[in-house]
Amino acid sequence: MREPTAIRCYGKTPKTPEGKDAMTETTAMTSRPADDDALAGAADLPSVDRLLGMPVFEAALADYGRVQVTAALRRDLDACRAAALAGALTRDAVTPAAFGERVTRALTERNRAALRPVFNLTGTVLHTNLGRALLPESAVESVMQALTAPANLEFDLATGGRGDRDDLVAPLLCELTGAEAATVVNNNAAAVLLMLATLARRREVVVSRGELVEIGGAFRIPDIMTHAGARLVEIGTTNRTHPADYRNAIGEKTALLMKVHCSNYEVTGFTRSVDVAEVAEIARPHGVPVAVDLGSGTLARLEQWGLPHETTVQETIAAGADLVTFSGDKLLGGPQAGMIVGRKDLIARIKKHPLKRALRVGKLTLAALEPVLRLYRDPDHLIERLTTLRLLTRARADMAAQAERLAPVLAASLGEAYAVRAAPMMSQIGSGALPVEQLPSFGLAIVPAGGGKRGSGRALARLEAALRALPYPVIGRISDQTLWLDLRCLEASDEARLSLQFAELRA
Ligand SMILES: *Cc1c(COP(=O)(O)O)cnc(C)c1O
Repeated sequence: MREPTAIRCYGKTPKTPEGKDAMTETTAMTSRPADDDALAGAADLPSVDRLLGMPVFEAALADYGRVQVTAALRRDLDACRAAALAGALTRDAVTPAAFGERVTRALTERNRAALRPVFNLTGTVLHTNLGRALLPESAVESVMQALTAPANLEFDLATGGRGDRDDLVAPLLCELTGAEAATVVNNNAAAVLLMLATLARRREVVVSRGELVEIGGAFRIPDIMTHAGARLVEIGTTNRTHPADYRNAIGEKTALLMKVHCSNYEVTGFTRSVDVAEVAEIARPHGVPVAVDLGSGTLARLEQWGLPHETTVQETIAAGADLVTFSGDKLLGGPQAGMIVGRKDLIARIKKHPLKRALRVGKLTLAALEPVLRLYRDPDHLIERLTTLRLLTRARADMAAQAERLAPVLAASLGEAYAVRAAPMMSQIGSGALPVEQLPSFGLAIVPAGGGKRGSGRALARLEAALRALPYPVIGRISDQTLWLDLRCLEASDEARLSLQFAELRA
């Protein structure tokens, strides 16, 4: 990591007798500026020890400790020495107060957490790069407990013997999905890998060409197959796959018929695909299992809240899938995790594979997952309690009211250079769930004043970067020469904080 420079500018830039900036003159290194009195030389620099004993460093020493403060001070003094040699070190830059201020600023910067909270105003609710699902309060409490107290992670409280960490959530997963058995790993990519490695090593897996997906971040079904040691048998064409294609592909070496959810695209027009029930019927007489990578996978019927239907895990199991894999942090609304649910004998084999140990989840994941799954037992309250669902179903009027309140705050900060208005816009679920569906939403639309003029693209990019650079970064999206700040993910409790960030922008 690059270390932040302690100082870049030492007070006022010295002027040459002609009034030019000394540092921009090629002679700056050798010529002495006229007002020597305002300049400090290397000899004027105090020692590290003397400075450290001064009251201005008391707070920094308490916050960051002697080692860090000393190192930061040394870096600052080095930079001062270099500036002095260049004839660019002013006297007001070498007062104890100036040292204290610069060193404290450098230390604050250096110690700022790398992983920081941001405002997701991108309009994508499950944004992979912004951490996907936000967890409900019950999960937060559970994680907090798991962090600070020992827990029965792999300890059977009934017998006092060794337990299985999967057992903490497997019964819930079975209850909610109708599956016989379940296991959990780190994410859905791991779930697919483990499933294939266990059941299809050195054997064949039949997949329709229309379902050979690439999920963002280099997860490609064919690559995962290769790494799991399975041989991919592609059937059908991009747009059409028929039952006969599956039938003809089944042979001695077939380990699995696999279906993959088209998470981030849709094939439309002259299409034919074979649904899970049909594939299961074809597979059954051959004793070949059917696996479905559902990607997002949801446990609730989304249409009951006016959202478009997304295939549920229950439906997929009921249709005859022997194994279903899905993510924990997409529509499910939980922590990053990968679930494998399905037939007991197959899950038992999967759990015995050595990769299971390598891909297993930690206690924090399980602590978060269990309360999230529990919420699904009470569908009537799900919409209030499950953050992802609450965001996806927010009333447009709420977002519009927020936009009306926030627009003047942002406009006041931006001044004449930009025009801000409250505007309708469309958000997306994200993370590949329902890729073509959009949710009517509301937010702020910002254009450079006198929009469409030359340089307005740059002005927008500048504003987008300034919002990103705020202490609590604000992430929006630019399209159609407009910066859009979608308020769907701004819950009421966060509005005041966003308002403060907008005010901060003025500075
Ligand atoms: C998202 C997705 C994955 C990967 O899931 P992660 O939990 O991100 O590892 C795999 N398959 C499909 C179809 C997906 O949509």
